Amino acid sequence: MILCKSAPINVDLIDNDGIPIDVHVQPITDTAPTCEGKTADLNAFFGAMFNHMGTNGKVKKHQKCKICLKQCILVNESTTLCCHAEANFAGKY
Ligand SMILES: [Zn+2]
Repeated sequence: MILCKSAPINVDLIDNDGIPIDVHVQPITDTAPTCEGKTADLNAFFGAMFNHMGTNGKVKKHQKCKICLKQCILVNESTTLCCHAEANFAGKY
């Protein structure tokens, strides 16, 4: 039996970035903003839409945050929700 000693052991378990594949890693895109297309994920973090008057006095659609204990109310814009999610739920995706 011949073993090729030049071959790194466990090479099959490491992806191109050197990150073990069994660790769940979100694909990271370089282009910003990355909010578009995340709406489906965001719906898992935020409750149903409802009309709520914002700080500027305008009634807009808002969504309640389900993750923070404060149950923050956020404008229903994907960028707003996305930024909040990234700032507050990092690692919970
Ligand atoms: Zn929140």
